[in-house]
Amino acid sequence: MVHGHPPLEHNGTFKMASIVTRRITWSVVTKPGLAAFSRGYAAKPALDSMNDILGDTLSGIKEAGTWKAERVITTKQAASIQVAGTQNKILNFCANNYLGLSSHPEVIEAAKSALDKYGAGLSSVRFICGTQDIHKELEEKISKFHNRDDTILYASCFDANAGIFEALMTPEDGIFSDELNHASIIDGIRLCKAQKNRYKHRDMADLENQLSNSNTRMKLIVTDGVFSMDGNYAPLKEIGALADKYGALIFIDECHATGFLGKTGRGTEEFLGVEGSVHIINSTLGKALGGAAGGYTTGPKALIDLLRQKSRPYLFSNTLPPPVVASASKVFDLLMKDSSLVDKVSANTKRFRDKMQDAGFSLGGEGHPICPIMLGEAALAVKYADLMLQEGIYVIGFSFPVVPKGKARIRVQISAAHSEEEIDHAVDAFIKVGRQLGVVN
Ligand code: PLP
Repeated sequence: MVHGHPPLEHNGTFKMASIVTRRITWSVVTKPGLAAFSRGYAAKPALDSMNDILGDTLSGIKEAGTWKAERVITTKQAASIQVAGTQNKILNFCANNYLGLSSHPEVIEAAKSALDKYGAGLSSVRFICGTQDIHKELEEKISKFHNRDDTILYASCFDANAGIFEALMTPEDGIFSDELNHASIIDGIRLCKAQKNRYKHRDMADLENQLSNSNTRMKLIVTDGVFSMDGNYAPLKEIGALADKYGALIFIDECHATGFLGKTGRGTEEFLGVEGSVHIINSTLGKALGGAAGGYTTGPKALIDLLRQKSRPYLFSNTLPPPVVASASKVFDLLMKDSSLVDKVSANTKRFRDKMQDAGFSLGGEGHPICPIMLGEAALAVKYADLMLQEGIYVIGFSFPVVPKGKARIRVQISAAHSEEEIDHAVDAFIKVGRQLGVVN
């Protein structure tokens, strides 16, 4: 008997009730939250019952050492910030502010002017009455920057990833997705009805095996350009060769590449010397490109036309606010004029990685500003990050389920805004804490 579940008493759904009962019985052994439910919490008022169940789940997260606490910043995003509860300024080594443009005076000024001229927002989705000239201008700039036909803006790259696969891929089509792709890609693929194949991380033999066994109409290889937990790259040259061989399209997520990777910041294609080999690019405006919010898809015109007609996060969610559009637009202007910040983040990254490796740390990734300091145990990563804060360095420990069990790490992110002295100071702090915790000699 399932307690407190009125819908099951209607419409002759006893069969369903017995299935649910069986599931709950099973869950006594495996799921603490549902186990609580079967212990009789459902006899309490619904809210009390929910609080009991969630209390069990939250305790489980804390006991597993994977609780994510949030620190509160009381200043603008920058290389040097103030965090609530601490007296001194802190050096920030965990933002995606790769170019250091989040608080650039020209970016702020552009946002302010747009607020004055275009207002706070459109109170509308794009296709009803939410498209202004600045939205069209930004889409054109992005297309030009990536040298693609057309671009569609979203409120975030999460939305862009949630909206593309369901609109483009049908049950006749096949998706081939790297197993370590970002959560938003995984969720987006879940929403679509295409045949789904997951290949081992960057494993071209596995990808080829799956492509060769598929007779789907359209094939789409889906990968992060840069994998955000590891700072390593999709092998785009090899993926391109397989795409040619098996008639597949290529989609990449460039959130950790656009604006700063490659000689002029065009991203992973430029970095790996395979410009134009990818058919569809999704990226974010919320990291290097001003850091406010927003995402986009850029690619073939027919695809962008289709997304404007069918992509649900675009059709059913509010327009990007004018100040956000203007700040991203200003970043593209700055970048297209001058790519010296790209050189700066690259030089800073090399300095940090070289010094850390010389000090005996094990670093993941391949020269990317995402520098994972591999530590192994979750508790060590959390403790290390806390001690780093005491040294005036803000970094974050990442552990399961964000990265595999036993591969906890501190993910350092280098910015063009860091000075050489700040990089050196961070390395010194890593060494001091590393000695204290027995990570390095
Ligand atoms: N894709 C990747 C690889 C990301 O790292 C992120 C953000 O963390 C996203 C997509 C989502 O981007 P946004 O913050 O614009 O939703």
